[in-house]
Amino acid sequence: MHPGADKKTQEYEKEYGRLALNPFYGEADPVGSMTSAPPRHRLPDRPLAPATAYQLVHDELMLDGNSRLNLATFVTTWMEPQAGVLMAECRDKNMIDKDEYPRTAELERRCVAMLADLWHAPDPAGAVGCSTTGSSEACMLAGMALKRRWAKRNADRYPGQDAVPNLVMGVNVQVCWEKFCNFWEVEARQVPMEGDRFHLDPLAAAELCDENTIGVVGILGSTFDGSYEPIAELCAALDALQERTGIDVPVHVDGASGAMVAPFLDEDLVWDFRLPRVASINTSGHKYGLVYPGVGWALWRSAQELPEELVFRVNYLGGDMPTFALNFSRPGAQVVAQYYTFLRLGREGFRAVQQTTRDVARALAERVEALGDFRLLTRGNELPVFAFTTAPEVERYDVFDVSRRLRERGWLVPAYTFPPHREDLSVLRVVCRNGFSSDLAAMLVEDLGRLLPELRRQPGPLGRDESVATAFHH
Ligand SMILES: *Cc1c(COP(=O)(O)O)cnc(C)c1O
Repeated sequence: MHPGADKKTQEYEKEYGRLALNPFYGEADPVGSMTSAPPRHRLPDRPLAPATAYQLVHDELMLDGNSRLNLATFVTTWMEPQAGVLMAECRDKNMIDKDEYPRTAELERRCVAMLADLWHAPDPAGAVGCSTTGSSEACMLAGMALKRRWAKRNADRYPGQDAVPNLVMGVNVQVCWEKFCNFWEVEARQVPMEGDRFHLDPLAAAELCDENTIGVVGILGSTFDGSYEPIAELCAALDALQERTGIDVPVHVDGASGAMVAPFLDEDLVWDFRLPRVASINTSGHKYGLVYPGVGWALWRSAQELPEELVFRVNYLGGDMPTFALNFSRPGAQVVAQYYTFLRLGREGFRAVQQTTRDVARALAERVEALGDFRLLTRGNELPVFAFTTAPEVERYDVFDVSRRLRERGWLVPAYTFPPHREDLSVLRVVCRNGFSSDLAAMLVEDLGRLLPELRRQPGPLGRDESVATAFHH
């Protein structure tokens, strides 16, 4: 304010002459921020300087593992810098505001169309689908559609009767299916493992079906060992069931991992909408779809498989867009990144990337087998994932010891026990992803080989560590 200003101007400047201050931009009193540590579990009384706050959070995260050495997760841990730039450009976009961000909505539609084509929907233009936060949400949506279709059939057949719906699956399902059955009050009928069969058996699954079965879940890529479930044989067993009994049971394929692997590496394997019984398919864009965490996809063969009354139309954001989702607001950046990845790689690019990952997995499995102490359950030739256990003659250490010792070298290789009827079996599992190179794989095998002499000298297994045993479920 200039000194000669009259009173009125002075008052005006006092009122309006300062920049509006966003309290979020305020810095803490530098003296206070140097001497008083903020409380850990209570909102601090005063703001901190952004540089101080950044450094505190950054330091806290330093002890998180190195994601590239994490062989427990299926979720993408590396993307190109360009994908990172696009995601940063879109971090303010809310996927639900389809009217506000019509181009983001258009990219979502294109991704659905590309997946419908990739998975051989009979009329890709007529297939319906949506993006989700991951496969778990996609499975909830697919399960809800199955349940609603069953309820309609049931009401027509047995009006006024209260029946309990059931869903048939292998005991090896990912935990999201147990969640679905729990949250939506559906009985989970699980086919147990038997001998060396570690996933669903088609005939045993068909035997568990009755008129209250809303569907059977087939998994393309079991999380336990990376094996593909026999989807075509499952459909054939359900065709035979229908011929015998008239009961018509749809199949949902949980392709969280495999639906982004098989189309490129196993083109002759018939598992998708080519099978008329397959009503819906899900995948995790953030697994072998090669996008950072936060995106999945659910697709239905046609509008017939997705009951119209489950689709909501909201007009309060302006516009009248159909949506099918559990969430309302969610980030748009991952969907944009998925479209980028599709555009960037194309079929040939995806094939090259997935083939390299499978080659790394197969070679690593062989080298682990060659160490002599281990027995492979799978060999990385379906999902680029393999499970192995200690050979029968190994008595002085177990898989939990191996997992613990590898962790000392920075590798996260989970150990866990199998479900009914193979609780006697404990395994280690390695998930190979893009970015886990053959060089890194060679270092892992060298580290494992170096540990063995010490492990063999142990007096006996040191006991199972629960924190290690629960780390695998992704
Ligand atoms: C990972 C996985 C899920 C859950 O997927 P998210 O994307 O992590 O929610 C479901 N089913 C299978 C077979 C999986 O591998």
